[in-house]
Amino acid sequence: MAKTSLKPYPAALVFGVPGAGKGTQGEILSRIPGFFHLSSGVIFRKLDAKSEEGRVVREYSARGELAPDDVTMRIFRNWLEGQRAAERFRPREHLLLLDGIPRNIAQCEMLKEICDVKLVIHLMCHDEEAMIDRIRRRAVLENRPDDASESVTRRRFEVYRQESLPVLNYYPKELIRDIESTGIHAEVLRQCLEQLVPILLKNFPRDEHGQRVKDYPLPPLKSPEGWRAD
Ligand code: ADP
Repeated sequence: MAKTSLKPYPAALVFGVPGAGKGTQGEILSRIPGFFHLSSGVIFRKLDAKSEEGRVVREYSARGELAPDDVTMRIFRNWLEGQRAAERFRPREHLLLLDGIPRNIAQCEMLKEICDVKLVIHLMCHDEEAMIDRIRRRAVLENRPDDASESVTRRRFEVYRQESLPVLNYYPKELIRDIESTGIHAEVLRQCLEQLVPILLKNFPRDEHGQRVKDYPLPPLKSPEGWRAD
């Protein structure tokens, strides 16, 4: 990955155990101007199964394992730059909401070059069995074959505990916000917004006329090979 001395994009992580509701909150938040939500799971499921990247990712996700970090970060970066080129992701006005990435310490390190993590929303749900049940039902409704198998789902939880949980210790404590995700969507959303809005105001300040106060300095757009804007 090419090194860059450019300013990384401001971002907030939406972090939590599989089934804690990251995707649901991310999806709601993505409809609010100022946020750009991306889910690595959604990006990965859209990869062409015949491409090398698509094949690799499927092989790992079918086992409930994490895809290799270099492949993951390449896909993520290319996708993001594609969205930027298509002007869907507008770094001067969007706070990135990262859902599903970074998933381990190595990815946190690799992400530093691309994103400046300003906040970590930790969606907590203590009832693992309820989440497994939720994932099973979602697998059918949303056509996610990997999630239909209980043994794969249980493996994903194990991987979460071993590899992903340490991400919470990687970031400074003052960036982490614990939010109980078992309440109604509106209540979880209220708590997420309570944390996210100040970050938005601080990083993308506007004057009383709604004009940007300072323009966020943009790194030049790379056109990585093979990105697609969709
Ligand atoms: P969802 O929560 O939308 O079902 P996930 O985020 O669990 O989807 O992603 C599905 C699969 O894709 C994971 O089990 C894993 O194999 C792969 N994956 C997604 N994000 C990452 C990541 N950051 N690093 C490595 N593998 C990932």
